[in-house]
Order: sequence, then C-alpha cells, then structure tokens
Amino acid sequence: MFSIGIGPSSSHTVGPMRAALAFATDLAARGLLERTAAVTVDLHGSLGATGRGHGSDRAVVLGLAGERPESVDPDGVPAFLERVRAGGELRLLGRHPVRFDPGADVRLIARALPAHPNGMVFTARDAGGALLAERTAYSVGGGFVREHPLDAAAPVVGTGAGLPFGFRTGAELLAHCREQRLGVADLVRRNEESLRPAAEVDAGLLRIFGAMAACVEHGLVTGGVLPGGLGVRRRAPRLHAQLLAEEGRAHRDALQAMDWVSLFALAVNEENAAGGRVVTAPTNGAAGIVPAVLHFHRRFVPGADDAATVRFLLAAGGIGIVLKETGSISGAEVGCQGEVGSASAMAAAGLAEVLGGTPEQVENAAEIAVEHHLGLTCDPVGGLVQIPCIERNAVGATTAIHAARTAMRGDGTHVVSLDTAIATMRQTGAHMRAEYKETSLGGLALTVVGAGARAGTGVGVNVPEC
Ligand code: SF4
Repeated sequence: MFSIGIGPSSSHTVGPMRAALAFATDLAARGLLERTAAVTVDLHGSLGATGRGHGSDRAVVLGLAGERPESVDPDGVPAFLERVRAGGELRLLGRHPVRFDPGADVRLIARALPAHPNGMVFTARDAGGALLAERTAYSVGGGFVREHPLDAAAPVVGTGAGLPFGFRTGAELLAHCREQRLGVADLVRRNEESLRPAAEVDAGLLRIFGAMAACVEHGLVTGGVLPGGLGVRRRAPRLHAQLLAEEGRAHRDALQAMDWVSLFALAVNEENAAGGRVVTAPTNGAAGIVPAVLHFHRRFVPGADDAATVRFLLAAGGIGIVLKETGSISGAEVGCQGEVGSASAMAAAGLAEVLGGTPEQVENAAEIAVEHHLGLTCDPVGGLVQIPCIERNAVGATTAIHAARTAMRGDGTHVVSLDTAIATMRQTGAHMRAEYKETSLGGLALTVVGAGARAGTGVGVNVPEC
C-alpha cells in the first residue's frame, strides 16, 4: 500500500508512467521495439480531463523512455521533456529512437472508456504506419494498473492466495486476529513474513518512513509558488518558523500539536503538488496524511520509536488493503472520500495500533475516519492537485487523530462496521455525478475558476482541457 514515487498524482502520474513503461517493455519482449517508428498514447476520461494539471501527459512520456516512479529524478524531468519536445524524438526504454511530438502524440480525451474512468490506449506503428501493437490499460488508483479486459472482481493488492491469513474485508481481518490472538499489525506482519524475512519487512517499512521524513524535511524548507498558474504559495516554511518560535513560550496553545500535524501534511502535499518525491499512501493526492500522523506520533507521544513506526505502517497497510479491495482509493471512481477518506482511515488505524488498540479499536478508528469523509467530492481547481487537496490533507490528518482517540476511549464495540462504511463509500461514489470525480468540471473547480475569472485573478486560465 506504500510506494515511493513522484507527484502530483498516483492515479494520474504514477499509474500512467507504469503503464507506459509496461507497454514499452512489452514491445521489447516481443521483439517489436526495433521495428517501432512511432507511438501514440490516448488518455481517456479523468486522465483526459485533468491530465495536464496532474502531469499524466508528462508521465507517459517518461514511462515510454524507461523511467520508473520510484527512481526518476524529479529535478531532471523538465529538461528531459524539453529535449524530447525540441528534438521531436523519444528513445523508447532509453535506447530505441522514434519520432515523437508530445503535443500531438499524447492525446487527452475527456470521453471515458466504458470499463473505467482512467483509461489509456497505447499504440506502436512501424515506418509504413502499420499497427504493431495496441494495449489498453486502466489506472485504478494508488499507482496500480490493470490491463484490458478489466476484471472488477480480481484482487489488486494480492493478499489472498498463498498468504497464511489472507483477507479482503474488515470482518475477515478481525476474524483472523481473534483466532490467532494477534493484533492487527502482528497479523499483517505474519503475512509479510511469509513473503520475505522479518528483517526485510522492518527495513522496507523504515525505508518508506525515511522517504516520508525526507519529503517532510524538504517541504519544510522549500518556499515559493507552486507550478500551474493558480498562484498558490507554499506555506510550510513560514508555519514551521512560527511554530519553532512559539515553542519557547511559557504559555503554549493547548492545541499547538494540531498545528504541527497540519504543518507536516502541508509540507508533504506541497512537495507533491510541485512534482517532488513522495510516498504514495495510498495515493499521492492524499500522501500527506499518514506521514503527518506518524510524525505527530513520533514528536508528541512518549516511547514512539522505529518499532512503533513499523507497527503503525503495518496496521495502516492492513486497513489500506481492505479499502482497496472492497472500496476504492480512486478519486476518479468515488471522489475524494476514496483518497483522503481512505488515507485518514489508514492513519487512524495506525495511530490506534501504536496507542495500544485492540483489533476492534483499530477497526473502529478506521471506520470513524471513513464514515466522516463519506460524500467528499473530488473537485481539484484547474486540474491541479493543490486546491482543495493540500489543506484537505491537513484536515484529514487531524480527523485521523480524532478518530483514533475516539476509538481508544471506547471498547471497540460500535454499530457501523468498517465494511459497512466502505460499502457506503462505494455506493455513494457510484451515485456521485462525474463532475465530482476528478474531472474538474464541478464543485470548487467551477466556482473558484468562475470567481477567479470574475475577479481577474487569472485563476480561470487553468481550466482543464476536456
Ligand atoms: S480533491 Fe481529493 S481526490 Fe481529488 S485530486 Fe484532490 S486529494 Fe485527490
């Protein structure tokens, strides 16, 4: 559920990059790479409507060139893309040159493919224009990619077959915990350790935390205005300075810890909006919530150490699997309730776990966070992952803390189960109009653009192409 990539979007940047890389890799595997003279990419639906603001058009070019989200150098991307544009040539997998005009060969098409709102069609042709290969893929959220034909029932994360305690639902997870007399983190660990040694599990999760911490650190010291034309100023450095200055005061604000939580989330999501290195958790748009709550735990809760951080991530990941398998973590499918709501639930579960929560309290914490994000729409202004996304992560992080603390004050019994809350999220998302599902055609994306245009602020220039 956690992977290191680049911003601003897991479904619109990381997924398309992976799909493009898979297409080019497949061409090579089938002996077609050297015969390829031209490639095109059609980005459909939400990818077409918000692809420019979300960087989808740039991501597929990088993927075709052989770049991976986890290793691409974010600072080198603009110069690379300019070389491709100016030279009219792209080296597939970094080695085979084809003629390529990013403006014409990557097409943004607002019409969605029937199977999924985030569809992509890749084609390769030879020098005579004959079709060599065509591949349709779907970016289904969190950087995950599925091939055509899409099997909606197929597990994406792969926690079932072959694992000692496979689970898809919250009820299955709780049943395993009760039978094995294990906490959520320990149960998830058992599954992980069936795949790799314990030391690798710990090292991998601490590497994830290290990437989160590096992202926070970079965000705290990087000011300026975010790209895209909305004129959104990065706020984390100034807020950081304010909070540091207030630390020495005799009478501190009782809720100052919440300002730190907001700060950590702002730092990550400003990095994400700038196309920097982030950890997808479970998406990029919602990447600030888990790191913010983790940093809150490490800064304000006595005894928070690396072992606790690993437990936090194991429990959060376990709940993330349930959300991914039975709900959705895609804003294009169910709106922001699936992104910020899911991240908040994961963080709530992680925090409840390290506060000593029973499996029932952990499940309750996640359920509270899901329940109170139900109906949250996705309406990014200008197709950019900035407004409302950045502040929304700060609010989602504080909600996660509230949810965990509320669950810890109870005994784990509650009326609405996590599975019911997730089913409600899915149903609410299905009823939500397309305008509110990452198309930038409704909500704030319309009212702010309209208000901006009327006020002459220039906000209106970023209306996504559709
Ligand atoms: S509004 Fe929510 S779901 Fe939509 S792009 Fe922003 S963070 Fe992602």
